[in-house]
Amino acid sequence: MLRLILSVKGIFIVSLFILLFSGAVIVIETQTSAISALYNQSRPSLISGGGEQCLKTLKAEGVDFVARGTRPNGQCTIKNAVKISSINGIKLRPTIEMNCKSALATSKWLADINAKTITHIGTFNCRTQRVSRMASEHSFGTAIDITSINGASVSEDWGEDTHKGRYLEKAHSSACQIFANVVGPDDNKAHRDHFHLDTGIGVGCLPDWAKKIKKLAYRALREVI
Ligand SMILES: [Zn+2]
Repeated sequence: MLRLILSVKGIFIVSLFILLFSGAVIVIETQTSAISALYNQSRPSLISGGGEQCLKTLKAEGVDFVARGTRPNGQCTIKNAVKISSINGIKLRPTIEMNCKSALATSKWLADINAKTITHIGTFNCRTQRVSRMASEHSFGTAIDITSINGASVSEDWGEDTHKGRYLEKAHSSACQIFANVVGPDDNKAHRDHFHLDTGIGVGCLPDWAKKIKKLAYRALREVI
């Protein structure tokens, strides 16, 4: 069986199967919205807020927060919500509201990159993803959008061969080890001025070849939806 899958014929069959399956998914979604509806309904049940233990760890990590419990708001629910005013001395203006486990990931990342100041454009926002009808991770308080760190601006310094540019590169790589999804200026125009970091369903950063396939798939989706 393994020999068949690894053969040229096997690769062709598997690719054809993936193509047909993806095609079927796109057709079902565009005709009925059934897949995004199923995802939007089931996604909250797959999220853990981390309970009391998470709140204790967050406090021990030096995060200044107020626990707000689970906050239902239609399809958008933040489990074990925490309203944060500062993380390890980094003041957050405006304050942010996140799922406790996602707040822990953010705190860990900021410590790892030795951040002293950050600017952001939000965490919780009840909305769909930009490219589909599926709920954004922002709908569950599991995402944060970062615009600058230690004075290095994502819109101005990303990709530059400067101290700030290299620092952002390092911060991006670190985020790949901690968050499930990291989206930035190299991924699409919508993220040209910020890093989107979330603890949703994902595997960290994709290798370049996978990013290219993802980009093509998004482009195709945009054309049919
Ligand atoms: Zn975002």
